[in-house]
Amino acid sequence: MVAGQFVHTGTRVVLWMDPGGYDAYRVERRFSPMDKADWESSQAETRALNSPNRYSLRRGGLTDQEIERVRGGGWDLPLLQRVVDQFVLHFDVCGTSRNCFKVLHDRRDLSVHFMLDLDGTIYQTLDLKERAWHATSSNTRSVGVEIANMGAYPVGGKNPLDEWYTKEPNGQTRITIPAEFGDGGIFTKGFVGHPARPEPIVGMIQGQELIQYDYTPEQYQALIKLTASLCKVLPKIKCDYPKDAEGHLIRTKLPDSELKAYQGVLGHYHIQTDKVDPVPALQWDYVIGKARKIMEHGVPPVSGMSPMANATSLGHMRPKD
Ligand SMILES: [Zn+2]
Repeated sequence: MVAGQFVHTGTRVVLWMDPGGYDAYRVERRFSPMDKADWESSQAETRALNSPNRYSLRRGGLTDQEIERVRGGGWDLPLLQRVVDQFVLHFDVCGTSRNCFKVLHDRRDLSVHFMLDLDGTIYQTLDLKERAWHATSSNTRSVGVEIANMGAYPVGGKNPLDEWYTKEPNGQTRITIPAEFGDGGIFTKGFVGHPARPEPIVGMIQGQELIQYDYTPEQYQALIKLTASLCKVLPKIKCDYPKDAEGHLIRTKLPDSELKAYQGVLGHYHIQTDKVDPVPALQWDYVIGKARKIMEHGVPPVSGMSPMANATSLGHMRPKD
């Protein structure tokens, strides 16, 4: 949903108003006991909750007149296309999208437009016209996605990865959602996730060596389609990622002037020195390369990977002229 219009992505997107969706417009906590969910009780119980709205108005680049218009909700697509030029990728360190929403909305007074779960289901929690709170200085100009993944840790240090990832006899690695999370709220019943590569990935980010398990193939397929759709509908987001002079991924925060000038897909760590997501595991060339192919060839073909993805109500796209 982009400024009130449905956009076809070719992959399953559960909107905030759909059954099973996560609604970041609501003031109440989503997972607290019902009689304690209202804003007054939530504020009293959770120190980090300071604002009933976990999102705000995109004002950057707008004239006073335009701000007067959009403060009432009056966004249109051309105006949004003018101000959004970054797509920020995160891993959620929550493991599942349900847990991610619980942490963002109920505990931390934060928000993000998309959450991408282990089975490739995308949840949209807000219209892209909203300024979600996920990437500090880039909130005004960006769209964000939190990809379900337990994150990256210093090599040799303590981490929760053994709790989530188990090696199977056939050499595959399986994701096990710890019992405390129940079924994890995964859309695909009985889904068993495997990282795209069985061994953990080690890499240098922000000058430190980190270890992380890869995302699932289902997450990659959905992320590729989401990336292609966003780059198409918000064309200031170039379908590319931050590269150095040799064409390699930049592995540190971008200098302020470069970040200011940057228009495209990027990691949270490109924006803030205290972040490392979504790396080292993310396969940038794969995501961007496939997304560009989709953009060149139009609507993505049926992948065969997740048949339900192509059978949802998303087919009812009715683009406005
Ligand atoms: Zn992040």
